[in-house]
Amino acid sequence: MGEGRRDTGRGRISGVTDAERRAALEAIAAEVRGCTRCRLHQTRSRAVPGEGDASTEVVFVGEGPGQNEDREGRPFVGRAGDLLVKLLGHIGWTRQDVFITNIVKCRPPGNRDPEPDEVAACAPYLQRQLEVLDPAVIVTLGRHSMGRFMPGSRISQAHGTTRPADPATGAQDATVFAMYHPAAALRTPSVERESYEDVAHIPGVLVAARERRVENRRPAPEPVAVGAPASGNPASPSPAPELDPESGLTSDQLTFF
Ligand code: URA
Ligand code: SF4
Repeated sequence: MGEGRRDTGRGRISGVTDAERRAALEAIAAEVRGCTRCRLHQTRSRAVPGEGDASTEVVFVGEGPGQNEDREGRPFVGRAGDLLVKLLGHIGWTRQDVFITNIVKCRPPGNRDPEPDEVAACAPYLQRQLEVLDPAVIVTLGRHSMGRFMPGSRISQAHGTTRPADPATGAQDATVFAMYHPAAALRTPSVERESYEDVAHIPGVLVAARERRVENRRPAPEPVAVGAPASGNPASPSPAPELDPESGLTSDQLTFF
């Protein structure tokens, strides 16, 4: 994506360049690599801050690094990552199109679940990443990530559904979409099938999420003085956009990246 200030027309808070976003994310990543805020730093080989397109509209949040991720310092590079890439491919996306990170940035030893105090210690990093990225959509992968963004939900019921993100997560006006963890899909064929069904909803979720943001971020209308001449040019309505017959979306809406 291009450099410079741009209005994507997608409800993004304007005035932040891609280069500024990248620099801010790199500053967070540098802090993560040196972090000793919780006990997980003692057993990690490399911290895994996350990676992807700094100007993306979609952020994927997994649980925590596994063995391969710990060795490489990159998220989702093992078998679960291979499946995540296949799921993205199902909708024509690549991992470079999105941003991928985790709830905890260092590997829990033996792939145990992260402890609540570790999740709490690491939370400010994800919060700051979301403040910088300002995504329209957050896709949670698995129970732990869902627990952060859809507290109280059960994954068996919440997967494939959306909820507005709590601004306290760092994401303003974002929509959360829950999916199973790809590692669970690797273990259970029915979960893998459902994951393909769920991922297919993401483009439509993104379109709806953009519209919500644009609506929420529209400045309040200026009060119009009684008797003031009407502004604008009502004589030239814009033509209705043509809709794609399959999805019912405009061609603009179908162009994501
Ligand atoms: N599982 C996760 O939750 N995150 C990764 O980065 C890799 C596997
Ligand atoms: Fe720091 Fe998070 Fe790693 Fe804990 S898991 S040491 S809080 S970066």
